[in-house]
Amino acid sequence: MNAVIKASGLQKSYAGHRVVDGLDLAIQSGECFGLLGPNGAGKTTTLRMLLGLIEPDAGSATLLGLPVPQAAREARIRVGVVPQMDNLDPDFSVAENLLVYGRYFGLKDAEIEARIPALLEFASLTHKRDAKVPTLSGGMKRRLTLARALVNDPDVIFLDEPTTGLDPQARHLIWQRLRELTRQGKTLLLTTHFMDEAERLCHHLAVLDKGCLIAQGSPRELIEMHIEPQVVEVFGEPAAAWAAQAAIAFSQRFEVSGESVFCYVRDAQPLLEHLQMQKELRFVHRPANLEDVFLKLTGREMRE
Ligand code: ADP
Repeated sequence: MNAVIKASGLQKSYAGHRVVDGLDLAIQSGECFGLLGPNGAGKTTTLRMLLGLIEPDAGSATLLGLPVPQAAREARIRVGVVPQMDNLDPDFSVAENLLVYGRYFGLKDAEIEARIPALLEFASLTHKRDAKVPTLSGGMKRRLTLARALVNDPDVIFLDEPTTGLDPQARHLIWQRLRELTRQGKTLLLTTHFMDEAERLCHHLAVLDKGCLIAQGSPRELIEMHIEPQVVEVFGEPAAAWAAQAAIAFSQRFEVSGESVFCYVRDAQPLLEHLQMQKELRFVHRPANLEDVFLKLTGREMRE
């Protein structure tokens, strides 16, 4: 297998607190790899170490076969980055942002100018070519940041929460573009809080918690491995009291969260028949998804 990004025993501490704790990863060429984890799990720190922007305290990493951070500059010529916060230059137009960024890679202006129309088309921003950044919507800024990350025609693209803060329409457009990049054979490494995003886009997922890798596999493998196949969500004020008495008789496992009870079952039929008779309870029956896995592995309590 052809690992484009590799990490072995990566460790990083801040102020004596270990935020990445012995991480091993191998990301194959052409795959979309998702790094999941609650806030503070160490995802951004991991990305920064893999990009060679910060030095690990222990362990080693390679990016496109080159050791990082030692050869990070050389490796990053073939890498695009979409950071968590848009850091576009507000004084420049859309096209100028691409031009200026391309110069960081040592590209000649004529070369960048020749690429700009295709980049704008990819980002659906052709009509905004001369618009200043502050006049763009959040979705447009994200798409410009993505186009900018492609200015050097990278083989690998790092995306730190690429759709955080976007409305559903804007997210769907970004997803389409990311799928297109995967189809072109680019390798994508992304972090996300959105389990639907991870489930739709990623071939392979790694779940981080407190700096440790706690699970990995394809979305389907994670669901099959870690959770019962069906979920019945029971709602309403009496749900918790009902759960205390009855849920265990019908579920392999259940979790109470406020006025909702999540019943995880292999066969939902007996529970559904029982619930039909409980007129004061509302319920929804659905297949288990990645969010169920994530909540099981990392817990329901808030982080940070
Ligand atoms: P995630 O991206 O999963 O939310 P981060 O990698 O950003 O997690 O952060 C992991 C932990 O490391 C957090 O507790 C964060 O506060 C801490 N941290 C990250 N960067 C620094 C830094 N430069 N200095 C001190 N602490 C940091």
